[in-house]
Amino acid sequence: MAAYLRPTTEAEALAALAHGRLTVLAGGTDYYPSRVGKPLTDDILDISAIAELRGIGEQADHWRIGATTTWSELIAAELPPLFDGLKLAAREIGGVQIQNAGTVAGNVCNASPAADGVPPLLALDARVEIADTAGSRSVALADFILGNRRTLLRPEQLLTAILIPKPAHAARSHFLKLGARKYLVVSIVMVAATLEVEAGRVSAARIAVGAASAVAQRLPLLEAALTGKRCDAKLGEHASADHLAPLAPIADVRASPEYRLDAGLTLLRRALGELGARA
Ligand SMILES: Cc1cc2nc3c(=O)[nH]c(=O)nc-3n(C[C@H](O)[C@H](O)[C@H](O)COP(=O)(O)OP(=O)(O)OC[C@H]3O[C@@H](n4cnc5c(N)ncnc54)[C@H](O)[C@@H]3O)c2cc1C
Repeated sequence: MAAYLRPTTEAEALAALAHGRLTVLAGGTDYYPSRVGKPLTDDILDISAIAELRGIGEQADHWRIGATTTWSELIAAELPPLFDGLKLAAREIGGVQIQNAGTVAGNVCNASPAADGVPPLLALDARVEIADTAGSRSVALADFILGNRRTLLRPEQLLTAILIPKPAHAARSHFLKLGARKYLVVSIVMVAATLEVEAGRVSAARIAVGAASAVAQRLPLLEAALTGKRCDAKLGEHASADHLAPLAPIADVRASPEYRLDAGLTLLRRALGELGARA
């Protein structure tokens, strides 16, 4: 019979992971649907009762989103406009029941190309904290996700937190998702943008697009093109098809590659225009 462990401290969880092969379970909203029709034979390490991994804390130079923080907890948290994009993504993850159980970290660890949390976190320059019994370290989210459902995590490791650095200037962010309908839908393409603004001009831009490559991608050429530009409703006009070069969309039941690129550019222009108008 499969084991089911539910430790209450991070140390117990890491010791259990060091001891034997276990499948980490947070909200289970990715794990259980992927097992429908199959026997539940995995030995499970349920981390949902580890209080020290829950919640969002503010430090001098970053925010820390604990590994068991749910989407609903993120939506309810008092956070600056920098987090608006991540909160918009949170409100579009499944429905309220999924947001109540599913975690931000679980979305990242599952590493789906269509994970709605990943583009806004890339646009926040997020890092992830990885721990095992030997200690912990942080790596850039962009380096953590290696491919479709593949991450840097080793079997004895836990992702313990997502770290968001504080920007140099006033910053705000946005997220737009295109699906075949408004809710409970896998994204065809989604875009996230963070702008730092100083004296009415963009001092730094971080832009990411998801569901248009195996791993969501930042668009460095567009970020460079936006830097120094006046922040107004016309900001989206600086985005062009060339800026989407890092993307490599696939054809699937939801859309063709051409449609994904076209829709991605439209969403980018809209998101930048809306962000620019708000600054
Ligand atoms: C009806 C429905 C609708 C959905 N809609 C959306 C949507 O619109 N957008 C979207 O992006 N997703 C959606 N999802 C997917 C899912 O809800 C999210 O990805 C959610 O954030 C996953 O979090 P979780 O805590 O439930 O992960 P789990 O299912 O608990 O875990 C997911 C994976 O990550 C691993 N893992 C989890 N936490 C850790 C950790 N701390 N350390 C190491 N490994 C870990 C697990 O081992 C597992 O492989 C939907 C799911 C359902 C069932």
